[in-house]
Amino acid sequence: MELEELTDIFYTSDKKGQVCRVKLNASGFTLQRESTGGRSREQVIDLNDIVGSRCIVVKKDRRGCSMLCTSAMQTDGNRSDSGDDTKRKSNSVTFEHKDASAYLYVFAYILNKKHLRNIIRRERTVLKLRFRSFDTFGDNMREAERWYQTVRAFKGHSLGHSDTDERRILVLLNPKSGSGKAREIFNRQVVPVLNEAEQSYDLHVTKHANYAREFIRVKILDNYSGIVAVGGDGLFFEILNGLLMRADWMEARNIPLGIVPCGSGNGLARSIAHVCGEPYEPKPILGATLTLLSGKSMPMDVVRIQQQNQILYSFLSVGWGLISDIDIESERLRSLGYQRFTIWTLHRLISLRTYRGKVSYLPKESFNMESDTMSLADPLPLKHSRSCNTCLDKLHNGCFQSTDCIETSKYYDVISLQNSINQSLQSRCDSWFSPASCRSTYHSVSESIYHSVADESDAESRLQLSNLSVHLCGPTGSAPTLDEPVPSTWVVEEGEFVMVHAAYQTHLGSDCYFVPQAKFNDGIIYIVIIRSGISRSQLLNFLMGMSSGTHVPITNNEYVKMVPVTAFRIEPYDNEGILTVDGERIEFGPLQAEMLPGVVHVMAPK
Ligand code: ADP
Ligand code: MG
Repeated sequence: MELEELTDIFYTSDKKGQVCRVKLNASGFTLQRESTGGRSREQVIDLNDIVGSRCIVVKKDRRGCSMLCTSAMQTDGNRSDSGDDTKRKSNSVTFEHKDASAYLYVFAYILNKKHLRNIIRRERTVLKLRFRSFDTFGDNMREAERWYQTVRAFKGHSLGHSDTDERRILVLLNPKSGSGKAREIFNRQVVPVLNEAEQSYDLHVTKHANYAREFIRVKILDNYSGIVAVGGDGLFFEILNGLLMRADWMEARNIPLGIVPCGSGNGLARSIAHVCGEPYEPKPILGATLTLLSGKSMPMDVVRIQQQNQILYSFLSVGWGLISDIDIESERLRSLGYQRFTIWTLHRLISLRTYRGKVSYLPKESFNMESDTMSLADPLPLKHSRSCNTCLDKLHNGCFQSTDCIETSKYYDVISLQNSINQSLQSRCDSWFSPASCRSTYHSVSESIYHSVADESDAESRLQLSNLSVHLCGPTGSAPTLDEPVPSTWVVEEGEFVMVHAAYQTHLGSDCYFVPQAKFNDGIIYIVIIRSGISRSQLLNFLMGMSSGTHVPITNNEYVKMVPVTAFRIEPYDNEGILTVDGERIEFGPLQAEMLPGVVHVMAPK
């Protein structure tokens, strides 16, 4: 259907006599201002930057002051075009208007490149159009609504929505993530933008660790156009694992996943912004919220982790040795606040530990480190997990390794060393200091157009859990199982290691640029191996270079190397040590990781 372009002439109220020709079409709004000298100035508000619009009624209060009210039709949460027209009109005329004008407010978030100190960021811009060509308020309102409907239609068209689409998103919020402010951040910063966009959502607040994983594993997802984590990477990790452990994971994996970074580890949100060229700081929440509304998604690689007793799906990293040790062990110094991380790093540098073991990997063939135009990974013919074997059954029975990582404090930088250490190294658990309870209630937010389904779904989850088949599934690749020998095509390195840390996103935290060349769907795991024998100053340089992505030498050397691989196996010879997946501590023991290219989809900025 061809959408009709609208044009009209408006007069600005501030500068008398200024005329503005306004055009609305598939590109957005074009405002042509004509000044007295006959010269005209054009401003374009790109449709991509517009999140939504509202018809506004100006109501006079008793003292004669103007107040803005949104028109009834958009506050009742009914986004359907077949809204009750009679009710709408009668609601509108209940206001007493001395002024017959109706207003249209258009909400846009425009990239501002001229900002101080060259910081590029999006700024909220509200375009206000006053309709007063007609004598009666009703007619002016009708005209404003015609523009409103046209904005909606162009937006819907550009996002590929049909009028009948239910575009509800499912939001899981971890009240304990980061410094425990996720609820507040959601209500204050995310909800207003979702409301401007008339994006409906269901909010569920997690009650405990692994709540989100179980919730997503059994939830009926048919009506959702996306699933969003409001929290840190740990919450996203739970959602990802819940999704891929569903019996219908093959379909469910197509639901775009999003994240609003409220955690202490925000590697994913930072990486999404980075690869898509969107500003992250100083407004990561706004950027991430706009991403939820973009209607765009991109395939994301997932790494399948096999251990003796469990299968996990990872989107960020796997670590053994130095970085994981600092990340997890420094939690005991959490009372020192931001300093703990630096102190623990120095401590670990002085009493450097090495680990004996074997690291085997399958190098990514025909990979050219120099080439920056990397092709997308070939999609792997995905298979269900080979069998519903003991380890998968164990998962079902609740043996999913729970994350131990719960204590924490924030670290912050006083010396440059700290800068170099990424947020993924912070404990994920500022949460424990949070005074907020973890009730699974939801906030009622003024103008909110969601309704929570927390209670029903609890019942639903319980019901479904009890009916759950023991045949748990999930995608698998072609690597051998952990108890089989590695194939001859794999490279095997044996010896003493300071660290083995593999990553598949650019950032492990908002300040850790770990793999500058990583892409979301390149099918590559970058494994960084540091061997014993490295000098402390070399190690210090490595750690300090992590914030700028300069930690890995351009050419691999005797002690430090980064290898692009598609699978690897870590076999520690000792019984003790720390292993992390996506920053969360997992059971220590042999581990195999295999790349599954583009298995899920993440929401991407426009
Ligand atoms: P952060 O980035 O601060 O670590 P995350 O959202 O990543 O925040 O979550 C940290 C950990 O908290 C994860 O291991 C997650 O499983 C766990 N978790 C999730 N919900 C809750 C809750 N309601 N109470 C306690 N822990 C939770
Ligand atoms: Mg990648």
